Amino acid sequence: MNDNLSIALVRIAPSGTTAMTDRAIALREAGRDIISLSVGEPDFATPPHVVAAAKAALDAGDTKYTAVGGSARLKAATALHFARDLGIEVPTSQVTVSAGGKQAIFHALLATLDPGDEVLIPAPWWVSYPEIVRFAGAEVVALPTTADGGFRITAEQLATAITPQTRWLLLNSPGNPTGATYPAEELRALGEVLRRHPRVLVLSDDIYAPLRYTPGGHATLAVECPDLAPRVLTISGVSKSHAMTGFRIGVAAGPAWLIAAMERLQSHSSGNPCSISQAAAVAAFEGPQDFLVEWRERFRTRRDRVVAALNAIPGLSTPVPDGAFYCMVDATPLMARFGDDTALALHLLDHGVAVVAASGFGGSGGFRISFATDDARLDEALRRIAAALI
Ligand code: GLU
Repeated sequence: MNDNLSIALVRIAPSGTTAMTDRAIALREAGRDIISLSVGEPDFATPPHVVAAAKAALDAGDTKYTAVGGSARLKAATALHFARDLGIEVPTSQVTVSAGGKQAIFHALLATLDPGDEVLIPAPWWVSYPEIVRFAGAEVVALPTTADGGFRITAEQLATAITPQTRWLLLNSPGNPTGATYPAEELRALGEVLRRHPRVLVLSDDIYAPLRYTPGGHATLAVECPDLAPRVLTISGVSKSHAMTGFRIGVAAGPAWLIAAMERLQSHSSGNPCSISQAAAVAAFEGPQDFLVEWRERFRTRRDRVVAALNAIPGLSTPVPDGAFYCMVDATPLMARFGDDTALALHLLDHGVAVVAASGFGGSGGFRISFATDDARLDEALRRIAAALI
């Protein structure tokens, strides 16, 4: 243990997704042929009108500070996005912009959690949720889910898990890493339970909303249970929808007190998000949205191919994800051979494919792949996985 580190930092592990991605990049730079299925990053090119807006911002000298929570123009575009795409009608005083959705979540949790508070997180979960909670000094309470249950929590499960210490419920639909997607009626059932517990705040991470493959529109808690909206923080962004991961722009909508608290923290952590990225995000939100339908269909086709190929490999099984671009692959039958899923992930890396072990997501005995990779590389990766597991 390094004595220089804070108690808070010692409580957390590095991000499993970014660690594996960094490793894959380093191996590639060293000349190895590695296909990375480890990070959730669309392979599509950022739309040209977005790139043009970024260039125009540079040429126009938009290279200075903006307001901490985003320029007035981007806040207006963000409010438009929440209303048009998620059905959440909020004034600009109830939206904020940060350096990726991750930063918004970090600030929201750090601004509200105290030691002893409990945070309910459906598991498997996205790697950063529990670590942020631990960094804040609060307790992670896992709500286990199963493939058979669609990786969704039930209202009964939620009711049993809530205690007087519960401060937040973290919901992610469509979810990373499982693709779990909550239909409206299940959100309303969760809302029934939440109504009885006014201290509980809800983080609804809707970053994958455009990538929903089930029939019907996207459902979100703030819309299904409008009376709960004053304690729901909804996260969205442009990274996944508009292939803009590197721009680092995330947006949030929620109660004015929480948005102000997040901006207070942001005023000391990073200040405003990158001004060039903000101009690009305005173009993303205000520009054409029709290509998103085509992108979603391409992801759906890949999903079906990938699920079929994975299920054909002895020892692997995966359900069909309802949303996002990940497969949570169960490899329990292979654990006797490999010992644990980290060893399995390293074995696959040796065979030229980077995946993230399920244990990084609060699961076990498996791994997550992202199928947001171009078709040829994806097919080659699947061939390599099959060959590595013979
Ligand atoms: N959210 C993406 C993933 O899970 C990007 C990496 C990260 O921030 O975790 O792969």
